[in-house]
Amino acid sequence: MQTTLDTTVAFEGKGLHTGALASAVVRPAPADHGIIFRRTDVTVQADVPALWNHVIVSPLNTRIENAAGTTVSTIEHIMAALAGCGIHNALVEVSGPEVPILDGSAAEFVLGFLRAGIRRLSSPLRVIEVRKPVSVQLGDAHATLTPADTLHIDFEIDFADRAIGHQEKTLNMSNGAFVRELCDSRTFCRSADVDAMRARGLALGGTLENAVVVDGSAVLSPGGLRHSDEAVRHKMLDALGDLYTAGAPIVGRYTGHKAGHAVTNALLRALFEDPDAWGWAEADAATAARLPGVGVRMSDLPAVA
Ligand SMILES: [Zn+2]
Repeated sequence: MQTTLDTTVAFEGKGLHTGALASAVVRPAPADHGIIFRRTDVTVQADVPALWNHVIVSPLNTRIENAAGTTVSTIEHIMAALAGCGIHNALVEVSGPEVPILDGSAAEFVLGFLRAGIRRLSSPLRVIEVRKPVSVQLGDAHATLTPADTLHIDFEIDFADRAIGHQEKTLNMSNGAFVRELCDSRTFCRSADVDAMRARGLALGGTLENAVVVDGSAVLSPGGLRHSDEAVRHKMLDALGDLYTAGAPIVGRYTGHKAGHAVTNALLRALFEDPDAWGWAEADAATAARLPGVGVRMSDLPAVA
């Protein structure tokens, strides 16, 4: 069955790139509504669906735009929390151009959603089945979707900075794996890139508290890392959030190599372009039981939240 939140939950904080203070108020929504963002500071055409064909490609975040040019930036972490908690319908009211970054992870969103409660609706859930392999390559980054019995995310990254280096992780996303293993991993960047981003008007709300900043072998953020492989875990978190712009849970294996938001969006576009590569399926009991978010408990949430 489809789900939504039981009650409304609000988050408040700065946007990572704009630095603007904003709130995100997440409201319950009826079946077949999906995830829609609504700008409360815009009077006409304020609604932007969180769908792959509304995504504006950017290497640093995921931004969605509607036909009137209304945008919402940095949706990927709240989308990961919605996917990872198994919430299929919600209206996300944002008071500005960007979703608050909070601590740079998805843990606070997960905590808010689990506190608000998740309600089952009376309509059946449809999932997107991957039926044949689809791949995309952009430069030295690539990603693939292949058929599988549930969502798996496999990821590999390689950074020159020794604080990150080579990391890989594979995860079956069933049984609350996202909440236990990924949701508290924070966004990260190289200190060498911070000045360049700021010169382009990005990362204006970034601090050592809401992003892991590394310089060579040093982690500059106070308190260090939450996991020795926090960077690859965060990339998997981003992938889950970006895959959720498919419009429903994906049943398939995602493999990412140095991939980012642009690669995952290109992969979804390649998937939906090929009618043999995917199909809708009503989730039977066995499939539904394996979806991310099923059986998630508050005790799965890491202590940082
Ligand atoms: Zn991220």
